[in-house]
Amino acid sequence: MIIIMEPGATLEEQQAVIARLEREGFKVHLSRGVERTIIGAIGDKTRLKSETLAALPGVEKVVPILQPYKLAGRDFHPEDTVVPVGDLTVGGRQVHIIAGPCAVESREQLLETAMAVREAGATMLRGGAYKPRSSPYSFQGLAAKGLEFLAEARELTGLPVVTEIMDPALVTAVAQVADVLQIGSRNMQNFALLQAVGRTQKPVLLKRGLSATIEEWLLAAEYILTEGNSQVILCERGIRTFETYTRNTLDLSAVPAVKHLSHLPVIVDPSHGTGRKFMVAPMARAALAAGADGLMIEVHPNPQEALSDGPQSLTPEQFARLVQEIRPIIAAGERELGHLVS
Ligand code: PEP
Ligand code: MN
Repeated sequence: MIIIMEPGATLEEQQAVIARLEREGFKVHLSRGVERTIIGAIGDKTRLKSETLAALPGVEKVVPILQPYKLAGRDFHPEDTVVPVGDLTVGGRQVHIIAGPCAVESREQLLETAMAVREAGATMLRGGAYKPRSSPYSFQGLAAKGLEFLAEARELTGLPVVTEIMDPALVTAVAQVADVLQIGSRNMQNFALLQAVGRTQKPVLLKRGLSATIEEWLLAAEYILTEGNSQVILCERGIRTFETYTRNTLDLSAVPAVKHLSHLPVIVDPSHGTGRKFMVAPMARAALAAGADGLMIEVHPNPQEALSDGPQSLTPEQFARLVQEIRPIIAAGERELGHLVS
């Protein structure tokens, strides 16, 4: 349930409500808004009647949370969440572009791409060191060596690193290098992995499962939030439909839907969403027009030679053009393209 405090409620009154809830075994989440404080309480409703809580000093009203995703939903947290990534913020006025290769293939490939995307306007670097591949015979990523190159690329460019984690046992190793832990589409319902990243204090980029409904996606976010990590960024990356022309069907209607239901920031990945490079820029523009908080774009210095996802990867020049094309759309939405502080 949600306990809405009166606008003038004192800190003591808030603390008394929290103490009472905790005494009855409730998990408490505090949301201090500009106007008033909202206390979210998850637990056994039979232990404490809402009328009892409503009678406590400073309480305006007590309402049940109807959304199944209690912490990810707007019922409990009406204001947008802004996720800090180093000096950057995702989900506020600024729009951020995460760019880089599908996979880290070599030191040279990564450093060249990192410098080029930074120059073009990207504010975060992506690149998989551990790759989830449909076939066990495909390139699986450089693993620890890939993490090393990512750390070097960050050192060189100042770009925060976004990289995928597939195994709960690797959380510590990946979190040492990653500024944002990416949960891939195939692992959206790997609940042990979600809980493991939920126990870190690193921002998490949670990609939508290939066949996940919006509710399942938000419930996956809930697994991370219930562990105490509130820094979740959602990423729409296309879903499986009957259409085969595109690799996936990029569900841009999910952007306003998720923004309506949840306070979490949402970005869009038109690279995996379409699988075709000529569609990446138009869908990037559409995503921002639909209200996305950012983009994730695959860029490779030589897409024909890429070890994974070449057909959807842009060259650095094509990426630079995309960044120019999205500027007027960002401005029209009264937002601005994010930039690195240094
Ligand atoms: C990726 O970002 O490289 C990736 C594997 O994406 P997804 O999990 O969306 O397929
Ligand atoms: Mn990829």
